[in-house]
Amino acid sequence: MKNKTHFILYSNCIPVKGFSESIIMDLQRENYVEIPNVLFDIITKYTQNYSIKKIKSLCSNELNEGIDLYFKYLEELDYGFFTNEPNLFPNLRLDFHSPFKILSSVICISDDTDYSIPDVLSQIIELGVQTIQIRIFKKINEGELLEFISLFKESRTKIVEIFLKDFDYNEIQFKKVLDFDSRISILIHSSDKHNHKFFDSKLIFLKENLKENSKEIYSKELFISNIAFFCESKSLNVGLNKKVCIDSNGFIKNYINHELSFGNVENTLISEILNNDLFLEKGNVNNDQVEKCKDCQYRYACLSNSDLIKIEDGYRKLDYCNFNPYENLWE
Ligand code: SF4
Repeated sequence: MKNKTHFILYSNCIPVKGFSESIIMDLQRENYVEIPNVLFDIITKYTQNYSIKKIKSLCSNELNEGIDLYFKYLEELDYGFFTNEPNLFPNLRLDFHSPFKILSSVICISDDTDYSIPDVLSQIIELGVQTIQIRIFKKINEGELLEFISLFKESRTKIVEIFLKDFDYNEIQFKKVLDFDSRISILIHSSDKHNHKFFDSKLIFLKENLKENSKEIYSKELFISNIAFFCESKSLNVGLNKKVCIDSNGFIKNYINHELSFGNVENTLISEILNNDLFLEKGNVNNDQVEKCKDCQYRYACLSNSDLIKIEDGYRKLDYCNFNPYENLWE
C-alpha cells in the first residue's frame, strides 16, 4: 500500500448493490464478500477516477478510518489492490451470447408417460441443449437408461443429470451407465441410503423426496458466482432463458411446475414453440424487473425457475425465497 495513491477492484470482482447491503462478486474464484452500501457507493463512484486522499476529502474526511480498513481488507481477500495507475486496468466486458437454441432442459418420465422419449431427447439434442436433467419417477433398468443416454454420444451437451426415484436400486446397477459417458451423473432420491456416494460422487443416494412439482429451494449455499452466470443474469432470466421443459404428460413448458403449457410433444415440434413470443417472454425478464429481487444484492447470483406474473411496473415471482432484502434477513 505504501506510496500507492489509488485502490481499485480486480476486473473479475464486481460490486452489486442491494436495498440494505451490497456484495462484491468474485467471478473467477466463484465467491462473494458482503460490504456496506456506503462502500459500494465509494467504489463505484470514485475509485477508478480519484486517489484515496481525494476520495476521503469527497467524503468530508468523515470516513477515513473505514476507507483505510475496508480497502486493506479487500486487498487481503485479493478482491482489489493499491496502484498508482488505475487506468491501466479497464473493466471486463460482460456481454452474454450463446449460439445454442436451448441452453437447459428438464424432462420428466413417469408411468403415465406416453410420448416417445428418444424422439423428444433427439429434438432437444438437435437444438444444442447444454445441460439436461432427466427426472424418472418409474422403475427403470440399466438397458433402458443406456438406450436414452446413447443419444448424447455425438452431442454438444455438457451435462446430463439423471434423477431416479429409488426402487431399491444399488450402485452396481448403474455402473455401466456412468462408465458409458463422463458427462453423466445420477441422483437417486427418496432413498433409505441417505448421502451414500459412489464413483467419485457421480452416483449419489439422497433421502429427500423429489416430486415432479417440487417447489424450489433458495439458500445462500446455492448462489452461483461466475462469469457466464453473471453475464446472463445481467440481461436475462437465467432460470428460464432458453430453457425447455417437458412434463411427464408431454406438455411443453418454461419450467416443469408452471401451469402454462405451449402444446404437447405428441403433436408439436419443440422447435416450433421457440418462436412463440409468450414462451420467450419470461426468459427475457432479468431480476432487475422483478419486485423484491430488484432490491436484492444476490440478484445476479440467484437461480430461480419460478413462474412470473406481470404487474403494472414489472413482474413478480410466483414462488419467492425467504430472504428479505429490506432487512437483510433470511426469515
Ligand atoms: S429470489 Fe430474489 S430476493 Fe430471493 S435471493 Fe433470489 S434474487 Fe434475492
